[in-house]
Amino acid sequence: MSENVCYTDAYARQTEATVIEADQEAHAVLLDRTVFYPGGGGQPADTGQLVGESGGSWRITGARKRGDDIWHTVEEGGELPAVNARVTAELDWERRHRLMRTHSALHVLCGVVWRDHQASVTGGNMEPLSGRMDFEFETMSGDLVGEIEQRVNEEVDADREIRVAILPREEALAIPDLIRTKINLLPEGITEIRTIEIVGLDLQADGGTHVAHTGEIGRVRVTGYESKGRINKRIRIEVVDG
Ligand SMILES: [Zn+2]
Repeated sequence: MSENVCYTDAYARQTEATVIEADQEAHAVLLDRTVFYPGGGGQPADTGQLVGESGGSWRITGARKRGDDIWHTVEEGGELPAVNARVTAELDWERRHRLMRTHSALHVLCGVVWRDHQASVTGGNMEPLSGRMDFEFETMSGDLVGEIEQRVNEEVDADREIRVAILPREEALAIPDLIRTKINLLPEGITEIRTIEIVGLDLQADGGTHVAHTGEIGRVRVTGYESKGRINKRIRIEVVDG
């Protein structure tokens, strides 16, 4: 099983690693250790490169989880690095950091909407610096999203700490706040649950990578809202430099 540093240290941009398996058909390699986020929870997988200790480099166009392993998709058109090769796995850091800012912004949005309107989240998705989130919300208006935008930026200005924890399943399930997220949909076999806490605002079961403080997000702009059915409303955001 490969070790992934991103779950405990989102700021790790690179790691030394050994290629332990190669899959010619998928054009992908498995490393003993990585910093690549494999995608999930609305956050796209990382991109980057592998740089060989004895020369050569390979473009990584994405990463995917297979069981507990994270496979790195190597750009087509060349040989895969050899099994046992020593490499440095490097992220496209600018892209990843933008995804961290965006993901954290969406959690601030979730926290504000839950605190002020008791509306829970039904889904979400993101790209670097833009994202959307769907809420169980009966009525939405321009005035209301304007107010939400203002409250979100107040939480950014408060520079709240964002903490990562990995809890035993039972302990996590005992946290009432976590029930509103999709924690109860987690497969039975999962014994540990990773949580992301925006201290004083929001707590969710989450696998993604986040900034350490809300002040690092920048400005959040609500760029639109739309109805996705009687009860579901979608809010779109953009993250800009603060
Ligand atoms: Zn999330």
